[in-house]
Parts: sequence; C-alpha cells; structure tokens
Amino acid sequence: MNYEIVIGLEVHAELSTKTKIFCGCTTKFGGEPNTHVCPGCAAMPGTLPVLNKSVVDYAIRLGLALDCDIAKQCRFDRKSYFYPDLPKAYQISQLYAPVCKEGKLEIDTKNGKKHIGITQIHMEEDAGKLIHDNFNDCTLADYNRGGMPLLEIVSKPDMRSGEEVIAYLEKLREILLYLDICDCKMQEGSMRADINMSVRKKGAEKLGVRTEMKNMNSFKAISRAVEYEADRQISILEDGGEVIQQTLRWDDDKGTNSPLRSKENAQDYRYCPDPDLPPVNIDDAWINKIKTELPELAQQKRERYIRDYKLSEIDAANLTSHKNISDLFENITKLSGEPIESSNLLIGEIMRLMNKTNTETENLSLDSEKLATLIKLVVGGKINRKAYKEVVEKVFVDDIDPEKYISQKGLMMIQDDDAVLKAVESVLSSNEKSIADYRSGKEKAFGFLMGQVMKQLQGKGNPASVKKILTEKLSN
Ligand code: ZN
Ligand code: MN
Repeated sequence: MNYEIVIGLEVHAELSTKTKIFCGCTTKFGGEPNTHVCPGCAAMPGTLPVLNKSVVDYAIRLGLALDCDIAKQCRFDRKSYFYPDLPKAYQISQLYAPVCKEGKLEIDTKNGKKHIGITQIHMEEDAGKLIHDNFNDCTLADYNRGGMPLLEIVSKPDMRSGEEVIAYLEKLREILLYLDICDCKMQEGSMRADINMSVRKKGAEKLGVRTEMKNMNSFKAISRAVEYEADRQISILEDGGEVIQQTLRWDDDKGTNSPLRSKENAQDYRYCPDPDLPPVNIDDAWINKIKTELPELAQQKRERYIRDYKLSEIDAANLTSHKNISDLFENITKLSGEPIESSNLLIGEIMRLMNKTNTETENLSLDSEKLATLIKLVVGGKINRKAYKEVVEKVFVDDIDPEKYISQKGLMMIQDDDAVLKAVESVLSSNEKSIADYRSGKEKAFGFLMGQVMKQLQGKGNPASVKKILTEKLSN
C-alpha cells in the first residue's frame, strides 16, 4: 500500500463522581427521564454553575497518569451550539486554558512499544439525550445526562492503523478503570471516541484532509469504521478526487458511513471565556496530595506480581487485564496466602466459567472469601482437585456456601490413616498379581493399585497419604 493512515482520537470519559459537574444532581446512569435534573442543569435562566472540585481532582489524576503538564491555572469557556439536547445553547468546556497538556500514552504494537502523544485533557459538561424513535413526528428530550462531568482526552494524530487505535483505547480504558474515575461502560456511553482520520502518500510531510466519525462506542465498530474510511479516502484520491472535511455517521449494521454535516472548525463554535466561572488555581500542594493518593496502575501491578509473587509475565498480564480481576486476585491472595493458586484459579477455572456463561468482566462479582476458603482446603489436602473444581463452579454460578456444600455432599477427603490403611490392606490381599508385577519392576502396577485404593475410598482418599501408606506396605 502506498498510503499511510493518520488517526487522532478525541475520547470522552464520563466521570464517576457522585454529582454532576456544575450542580448537585446525581450522576447515576438511567432513571426515569428528567428526574436527575435541577434548574441548573436544565439551563433555566438565572441559574449559576458551581464547579464540583472532585472533577478537577479526577482530571489531575488522569493528567498525572498520562504524564501531562498540569496547568497552574485553568479556565472554562463557552462552546456555542444550538441543539435541543443543550438548552443553554452553549456547552461549558475548556479551550484556551485546559487543565492538562502535553502528555503521552504508551501502547503495545506488533512492532513493539509506541508512544501516542496527548495534546490536552479538558473538563466539560455532557449534553442531554434526544430520543427520536418512540414517536413518529416528535423528538423527546431527556436531560438526566445534561451536566454530567466529562474529561475529553485529545490525542495527537500519532496512530497509523486500526490496531493502534484499539491498543490506545484499551490502554486508556485500563488507566481510567485503575484510577477509579470512570466505569468505561461503552454500551452506556461512559466512554466514547471521535475518530479524526486522513490519509497521505507514504513519505509525504503534509497531512491530508481529515474526516471525523463521532461518538463511536464499541471497539468492533471502531475497527470496522477505520478500515472502511481508509479505503474510502484512498479510492477518492486514487480516482483523482479530493476528500472533503466533514463529519460522518458510521452505520455499523450496513458497514458504511454517510455525511452528517460539513466539519466545523474551532472558530465556528464562537468560543468565549465563561464569565460565570472563576479561573481554577492549582498549586503544588494540591497536585502533590493527588500524587500521593494515586492508585497503583496496571503496569505497576504487573511488575509487582512478577517480582513479589513470582508469576509469569503472561499470567501477570492476564490478571491485570481488568481491574475487577486484579482486585479479586489480590483479595483472594491476601485471604489464602497462596498467590500461585489464586492466579491459577482466576486464569483457569474462573475465566473458563466466564467464557461459558458469557460474563463480561465488568459484571463479574465473586466472593473472595469463599474462593480463598476453597484454595485453603485443596492446598491443605482436605478436598481433591475434582471436588475443588466442582465447588468453584457452584460458587461462581449460585454463590453457595462452600463449606456447607462440601459437608452436605461428603466431599471432604478421608484424613484418617487407619481408614486408608484398611483400604490398602484389603486391595493388596486381593491383587497378588499386581504386587508381584510391581516388585518385578513394573511401575504401572503401582498406579493400578493406587486407583483400586482410591476407588475403595470412594475418591475421597488423600492421594498423598494413600501413596505413602501403599508404598510402605509394598516395600514390606
Ligand atoms: Zn442539576
Ligand atoms: Mn467534547
């Protein structure tokens, strides 16, 4: 291919603060239409915004995690646009003095690590939602989402393929989750991406004319859209045409895009400083406080798991693939004292069960105490591996009480050496041939005898003690 694809992303992350950015309304998702609304976020004339300090805290947290410069002073601007989902006719956002600037995010690509530049992170309010589908000739407006706090993360045009875009989004999602500032539920729109894309001849300096696809909220759709749009732009250029700067709507069912409007530039929005909000001064003490409270990120966790728990790089990566998994891993390890067993349990049985039941990681909720109890029982030789798996599945599916279940089902292994001894003696008395085979060097005979003893103990014998007693008896 003679062309290079150039992609920059604007990602909107809806923050998990308790209240909205400029009023005291709840940020809970859903709710009856227009119930999470007050005169402020409904844009009644005469109301005034009051900035939620937690939003600035979260912005600084993300800025630090993305290696940004944190502004000593940031300000809010009005971005004008008339649309019924935003009844003020402007969005409070930041253009001239955003809270964070000049950062970077490291992604893994097939050619190794790559840094994607971050131009800026700014704070802004979300708009409400328009519902067009329910009726034929009218549109309904729900302002519950109006005034929800957003961080917009603007990247530099550093990505060169759909894979790099996905790697960037996955890494960003990981960071947002570990920072505990956004739930990143793409289907609920908590994380959505605008894709700015152009193509140019390989080796060319000048960027091509770009198009934008807005509010993409699934990784699969993004991959498909990038591929389609690259092909579309290249064939226009190949035919001697010109790409038009415009906003496109991606239709994931049809797998095509269509023009929505010709693209605005910043000046079309008539940005102006918002006179209702004073500048926000951020001193070193504020930044340092957030620095010391910064949660451990996935990368740091991976390094710690490898160093302290002697886990492999792959296992450490698997366990940190989602915060829910690493939280579970750490809790189970703390309660059981068995990092390797905990890791094996999550990467093995639990991930298998998640696949089987189509459980999304963000919806995974398991009782660490119950799983730790099971690990202690299997490691302590109280239950065998087969019973362990069975009870893990029961905990996963029905959240049963493992100890109760084990005693009801009689899954505890026989610890009593006398019972094992009796079983060994009875098996040996009726298997003269196998004893002779074993003594003449046929190792297989031992396995057979061991199996017979276990059978007699109905599978509940502790293999270690059966093996020990059987070996003793055979060497007599
Ligand atoms: Zn409100
Ligand atoms: Mn925005």
